Amino acid sequence: MTSEGSGTTEDSGEVLYGAVDLGGSHIGLALGTVDPAAGEYRLIARRNLEGGGYEGWAPVLDQIAEGILELGREVGARAAAVGLGCPGWVDTEKGETRFLPNLPTRWRDVPVARILGERLEAPVHLLNDVRAATLGEFTLGAGRGTSTMALFALGTGIGGGVVVDGKLRLGPLGSAGELGHQTVDPNGPLCGCGNRGCLEAVASGPAVAGTGVRLLRSGQAPALFELTGGDAGLVTAETMGEAARAGDEAVKRELERIARLVGIAVANVVVAIHPELIVLGGGVAGLGDLLFDGVRQELAERVRVFPIDDVRVEPAVLGTDAGLAGVLVWTASFGSSSP
Ligand SMILES: [Zn+2]
Repeated sequence: MTSEGSGTTEDSGEVLYGAVDLGGSHIGLALGTVDPAAGEYRLIARRNLEGGGYEGWAPVLDQIAEGILELGREVGARAAAVGLGCPGWVDTEKGETRFLPNLPTRWRDVPVARILGERLEAPVHLLNDVRAATLGEFTLGAGRGTSTMALFALGTGIGGGVVVDGKLRLGPLGSAGELGHQTVDPNGPLCGCGNRGCLEAVASGPAVAGTGVRLLRSGQAPALFELTGGDAGLVTAETMGEAARAGDEAVKRELERIARLVGIAVANVVVAIHPELIVLGGGVAGLGDLLFDGVRQELAERVRVFPIDDVRVEPAVLGTDAGLAGVLVWTASFGSSSP
C-alpha cells in the first residue's frame, strides 16, 4: 500500500512514470511502468486529449498538467518523472522546445520541462516523438535483443531514429535520425523542408495517395475507383494496397516504384550504420508485402560492400503506443535525477 505522492504503484512498488505523446490533432497521456532490461512496460492509466491549441502552448501545457495529475488521482499515486514526446525539434538537455512546425504558434523556445515540472512537482524530460518511438521499438518492441537498429515512421511525414551499439543517437541538436529527409531522387518533387526529392516527398502517406489520385483521375485504376466510389479523398496507401491486390496493375506498379525508393533510403542507412534491423512503421508500412518485398529487393541489390543476409527489415510492433512506450524508457533512463 502506497500513498499519493510516492511515485510507485500500489501492487508492485515499481516506479510510476508519466508519458505524453504530443501531436497536432491529438495528445496521448499515460501513467505507466517500464522494465527496460526485461523489455516490458505497462500503461496503467491513459487518456486522450483533443489537440489543436490554437491559442498557443500555454493552455496546452495546462491541459497536460491537469490530465497527468488527474490520472495520478485515479490510480492513487503520483508520477516520479514525466516524459514528453514532441513533434519536432527539442533541446533535450535544457528541456525546451525549439520548433514544432505542425503545432499552432510552433512552440519556439518554450521551457516546457520547467513549466510542467513546477506543476507536476517532478522532473520532466523531452524527446522528439519519432526518436521516442524508435527507443520504444528498440527496447520494448521489434528491436528487442538487437543492438543497432533504425526506424522509419512512414506517416503523414516521414520521421526516423537510429540506435547504434545500444544507444539512441541524437547528435548535437537532437536531430540525428531525420531519415525522411535524405535525397532518394535528385530530380524529385520539392519537400516541405526545402530540399528536392526527399524520401518524405515521395513516400509519405500524402505523397503515396497523390500518385493514387492521378491514376484514379486518368482512368487507370478501376479497382481503386470501385473501392473509393471515385472519391479522391478516400485514396490512401491502404485503399491503394487493396486496389493493387484486387488487380489494378497501374496502382501495383506505382506502389512498387515507391517501395524501391524506400529501399534506396533503407540501403543508405544500412551502409551507414550496419544495423541488425530496420523497422518500418506508420500508415504506409501497412501496405505489408507490397512495400516490404520491394524494400528487401532493393536492399539486396544495392548493398554489396558487406554481407547483409542478417539485416532484417520488419514492421513495427507497438503501433500507436510506440511513442508513449519510448517516452517511458527515455524518462526511466534518467533515474530519479533532475534534468
Ligand atoms: Zn525534406
